[in-house]
Amino acid sequence: MSIQTKKSNKQLLDQQERRESNARSYPRRIPLAIREAEGIYITDVEGKRYIDCLAGAGTLALGHNHPVVIEAMEKVLRDRLPLHTLDITTEVKESFVDELFDSLPDGFRERAKVQFCGPTGGDAIEAALKLAKTATGRQSILTFQGGYHGATHGTMSISGNLAPKRHVQGLMPDTHFLPYPYEYRCPFGKGGDEGQALSATYIEQLLDDPESGILPPAAMIFETVQGEGGAIPAPIEWLKEMRRITKERGIPLIIDEVQTGIGRTGRLFSFEHAGIVPDAFVLSKAIGGSLPLSVVVYDRELDAWEPGAHIGTFRGNQMAMAAGTATLKYVKEQRLSEHAEKMGAKLMKELKDMQRDFPAIGDVRGRGLMIGMEMVDPEGKASIQGSLPADAAVASRIQKECFDRGLILEVGGRHGAVVRFLPPLIITEAQIDDVVAILREATAAATAG
Ligand code: PMP
Repeated sequence: MSIQTKKSNKQLLDQQERRESNARSYPRRIPLAIREAEGIYITDVEGKRYIDCLAGAGTLALGHNHPVVIEAMEKVLRDRLPLHTLDITTEVKESFVDELFDSLPDGFRERAKVQFCGPTGGDAIEAALKLAKTATGRQSILTFQGGYHGATHGTMSISGNLAPKRHVQGLMPDTHFLPYPYEYRCPFGKGGDEGQALSATYIEQLLDDPESGILPPAAMIFETVQGEGGAIPAPIEWLKEMRRITKERGIPLIIDEVQTGIGRTGRLFSFEHAGIVPDAFVLSKAIGGSLPLSVVVYDRELDAWEPGAHIGTFRGNQMAMAAGTATLKYVKEQRLSEHAEKMGAKLMKELKDMQRDFPAIGDVRGRGLMIGMEMVDPEGKASIQGSLPADAAVASRIQKECFDRGLILEVGGRHGAVVRFLPPLIITEAQIDDVVAILREATAAATAG
């Protein structure tokens, strides 16, 4: 019998490095082994406590181990309910679909269908693409620069980040990248209302040009706030324009709500900010209440699928459905979307205040509790638009200085220069003050000298 000895962070990380693949990602920047977690806090195996503003990459809407989530999971166990059911229905599933449909905008609810997927976000995006291709009989996909939709062949094909694509041959053909309205680094060198209007005009004209080189598309897909792309919110007017342009041309619009969904941006679904309804949208992360679950919700008009058109063994995770139902209910009952909007506004204001003190903060942006702080080289040469060169080194120093002081943040976006905030939606004002206090110190240390 082996005696369990307590291991240090270093021992566990070394062992992880030896045994897990070189594709490991988060532990390289967040080097700890987690012992326990509660609310917005996690504690490592050596007893050090951290504020978790990564929250499972935006998964943990209610933070770690929220009582309503734990109770829902415990009930499944207490009642000896089946844990795995493929896509065979159960009362737990029925309640989840009731709660989900009850959350949909009026008018969409009546037309909605749901497909349980893989259970990753990536698998649900794959399903949405297949659905649109099947319904339209077309194959081109319109996607956006800076977008992120997953790590499978198909979803990587429609994602912007070049690094993981470089080494993988044979990605999905007929994907077309369009300019996303990235205010700070406008693809047209303009920014503001003019930049977003140019993006919409470009896209509309492209779609009407018989020599655009792009066959009539099966779908347009985007995030309303690009997450991995660097917490970039698309202007509301632009979102409305995309809905108009796609509707007028019979192009199904798929919105990727994997990261934005379930209250994070200040609305239950982020497309609600623009008062639009997509033809399909994809949920994962928060919808499983901490556990793996993903769905595509779509207009029944698109349902040209044959039986078995999108299958997958793990589409019946009952614990995830129970945890997801409890999460969705709690977010609505406690008005956590509004709370996220308020807390997001507070954090954004604090970051903008910091921007005045630190010239290396080039841009602060976001929607709700999906916020980014883009780090730049203040001495560098400004672009035609006036934006400064991205500075990944300073972003990563800030991440490290924060980590040392007990704050976990992610770095991402273009050139890896964006410090990202994705805290649980339950974060309080006092906790945001704690985050900002650490961040100020860390930024001072990271930019000193
Ligand atoms: N879409 C978006 C917007 C995401 O942020 C992610 C994950 N970061 C995905 C899709 C892919 O989800 P998963 O990692 O569960 O496949």
